[in-house]
Amino acid sequence: MSREQSDYDVIVIGAGAAGLTAAIAAADAGSSVLVVEADVQTGGSSRLSGGHFYVAGTSVQREAGIAEDSADAMFEHYMTFNQWMVGPSIVRRYCDLSAPTFEWLTASGVKFPTAMLYVSGVGDVPRGHQPEGGGQAVVLALEAQLASRGIDLVLATRVEHLICDDAGSVSGIETSDGPVNCGSVVVATGGFGANAKLIAEHYPDAAKAGNWGWYIGSPMAQGDGLKLGQEVGAALDGHNKGLLLTTPGFSHDLEVLLPDWLILVNPEGRRFVNETAPYTVLGGLIQRQGGTVFAIFDEAIRAAAKRTPFFNAYWVDEVLAQKADEGIIIRAESIEALAEQTEIDPKALKGTIDRYNKDCDQGGDSVFFKKTQGAPQPIETAPFYAVEVRPAIICWTGTGLRVDAEVSVLGTDDQPIPGLFAAGETVGSLHGDRYIGGGGSFGPCIVFGKLAGENAAAYASGRRIEP
Ligand SMILES: Cc1cc2nc3c(=O)[nH]c(=O)nc-3n(C[C@H](O)[C@H](O)[C@H](O)COP(=O)(O)OP(=O)(O)OC[C@H]3O[C@@H](n4cnc5c(N)ncnc54)[C@H](O)[C@@H]3O)c2cc1C
Repeated sequence: MSREQSDYDVIVIGAGAAGLTAAIAAADAGSSVLVVEADVQTGGSSRLSGGHFYVAGTSVQREAGIAEDSADAMFEHYMTFNQWMVGPSIVRRYCDLSAPTFEWLTASGVKFPTAMLYVSGVGDVPRGHQPEGGGQAVVLALEAQLASRGIDLVLATRVEHLICDDAGSVSGIETSDGPVNCGSVVVATGGFGANAKLIAEHYPDAAKAGNWGWYIGSPMAQGDGLKLGQEVGAALDGHNKGLLLTTPGFSHDLEVLLPDWLILVNPEGRRFVNETAPYTVLGGLIQRQGGTVFAIFDEAIRAAAKRTPFFNAYWVDEVLAQKADEGIIIRAESIEALAEQTEIDPKALKGTIDRYNKDCDQGGDSVFFKKTQGAPQPIETAPFYAVEVRPAIICWTGTGLRVDAEVSVLGTDDQPIPGLFAAGETVGSLHGDRYIGGGGSFGPCIVFGKLAGENAAAYASGRRIEP
């Protein structure tokens, strides 16, 4: 590629869900488009993802008999859930555009069956839309639309720098093959879960997990978008945001739910949560206890813990016995000895367990109202077990480029950097302290990918973007 040979209206960096969507939207708005992808295939983390879409007011909801949901209701929930500590204008934009963008995606052949609609996160309205075939199906459906629109896709080419013209507008990219010029750029390079240095810098809660930490996404999630943007003056947003999933750390298996038969206690020996709380909030609640808690149960419970489709890797009788034999989890003949080995105040731990056992006798959890599949099981048969649990699995990262509600990248002076747009996980401005729910990362990739493509096309064609 060289400046002489290639000249595009819009260049999209990254061919995940956000970048592919941006490319299609820009082409539909009349732009010539080049997509540059560092990997040897498209898809990034999107290809590995469930591909869920958090959205309100869809045809799928109406088919399922949910007629009342709306962008207004979604906005209220999003902002209240985040205690208004997230930018209202970008959240509003997401809520307003989510349903029309979702319908646009379904028109491209991605199927979201009503039977797979679910209550995502801690809301009470089903807004989690699951695609048949997961994120991979979405990526393939998007990629299939490139050729017919004349969109050029270059694989195995990493963008190293952005180029600015004399007026300070972003006007091209630099790769190892040389520069390519354009009218505007969309950065859609994904997150930085695979980059330990950036994790330490921007996601200290994840770094705290130490060698327990691992990332479930693409190894290409190196955070290049942050560097590309910062080199041309972009500000960052969303420090220490992201989604950490809980793990007992035995292996790198993705099993994020906890069984209902254990109790979690904090370093003070107290329960602090309904142990079956959604994964979207559990990691954050453990973080509040200092980042490490213990799952407690007894021998009778361990022996009864058989494999299920949900619990296959960790919370299984023979696995727990083996980990105890290896000294990876703590096994003790009394609650006092268990407390000593976990360095928890024995009186507090005993008090917590006595109270839980009394609740079990009386048929229910009177403190956190946990509902169990069968009758709740008391913790009373030696030996007793303590398994350390940490929020340590990185699902997605939330620090990224600061954008306004038009997904223009903002400089440190809070002004849009002309010609530069961003979408997907590389955007840092959308997430609060807690994850809104399944589909709350992938959904915005599509919504803001489309908006970024449209606005980049408008900018490139010399039109002014109205706020
Ligand atoms: C296993 C898994 C399951 C998930 N499930 C869900 C879910 O169900 N719901 C949900 O909301 N979220 C989910 N997430 C999170 C969500 O999928 C991601 O946040 C989202 O897919 C990110 O999309 P993206 O387009 O921003 O980035 P990506 O899909 O990662 O795409 C970025 C692309 O940019 C390329 N790239 C990077 N740097 C450069 C460069 N310098 N030059 C050129 N190309 C570059 C990468 O190679 C990559 O292909 C999940 C994540 C994982 C890993």
